[in-house]
Amino acid sequence: MHRVMIQPATYENVRQAVDRAFELFPVEIEGRNVLIKPNVLRASEAKEGIVTHPAVLRAVVDKVEEMGPASLIVGDNPGLFSYGDNENSFEKTGLMAAAKGYYRNIGNDAQKVPFNADYLPSVSVSRAVLDADFVISLPKFKTHGLTILTGAIKNSYGYLPGAQKARLHRAAGSPERFHEAVVEVFRLRVPDLFIVDAVVGMEGNGPASPDLRDIGLIMASDNAVAMDAVMATMMGLEPGRLRFLKKAEELGLGSYDIDEIEIIGELKILPDFKLPPAGGEAISQNKVIQEMMHSRTLLRPQADPDLCTACGTCIDQCPVSALSMDGDLPRVDSDICITCFCCQEICPEKAMTLK
Ligand code: SF4
Ligand code: SF4
Repeated sequence: MHRVMIQPATYENVRQAVDRAFELFPVEIEGRNVLIKPNVLRASEAKEGIVTHPAVLRAVVDKVEEMGPASLIVGDNPGLFSYGDNENSFEKTGLMAAAKGYYRNIGNDAQKVPFNADYLPSVSVSRAVLDADFVISLPKFKTHGLTILTGAIKNSYGYLPGAQKARLHRAAGSPERFHEAVVEVFRLRVPDLFIVDAVVGMEGNGPASPDLRDIGLIMASDNAVAMDAVMATMMGLEPGRLRFLKKAEELGLGSYDIDEIEIIGELKILPDFKLPPAGGEAISQNKVIQEMMHSRTLLRPQADPDLCTACGTCIDQCPVSALSMDGDLPRVDSDICITCFCCQEICPEKAMTLK
């Protein structure tokens, strides 16, 4: 039986809840390579509640640091509105300071791995995810227009750097298939521990809704299906309604049956919790978002011949080796490029743009 901790907390005393999570889910971290992955959807103020709160990240970093890891990385790949804006997203949210020097732009180094060919034959995953001995996922308690809630399973969608997220959205085609694609990304590397920022959660039309909700909790588990099932129940949702949870259970990743989950703490349904429109209409029928996603998948880098010095830095740094020198200019292989914006970020001459 999987367990989920539900512990009262504020951002001021969050360390106590983090300590409790590590007590309940003891882990061997000493001498291991640890990745902490908050939800950094986009550059925003911490008070907007769109990302994992910096106080939660700080408490987890402090805790892990004390446990003597061989290495510690804090990183994420932001979503649609902040591709290529990794550092700024961490800075603006306050997560850069909370990461205490352990931040790394994990979108700069990726490895191609086979994927479910019903969607895409392969995807490129941040190497920091694949190399970690121990992954700690720090989701935010939020709604999501397409998956209804974004929690332990959906937080792993950030394994994919750049516009691959949008490409997979398109490859999925329907909300139901997108739910399943999210699980396929999650199981590329199932995190070892989940600590959810539910001190201030989000309701309404997430994942960037202005409707914040004071919940006053930190939640933790070592099983994502159990965690998301408990979050769904708190939102007033029958977990079995969520296709991604059904898919995860079918794949043997856990049980969403609330009677099969041991609750450590008090499970309360949040009264009158505002859900997004059921079935994913909020995003799948939003033309502006759909067009933006599509346009992002089509962007490709182009070097300005007047500025480019043929230094080759972009070629060395491309995480998927999509660039090569063609005469005096780098050229992109469009089939390989994942539109991660790294070449634009790294170019010392500001010669590279994505068009
Ligand atoms: S990093 Fe910039 S200057 Fe150097 S080869 Fe690439 S585009 Fe040209
Ligand atoms: S060519 Fe540029 S945008 Fe495309 S994957 Fe390489 S670094 Fe990223």
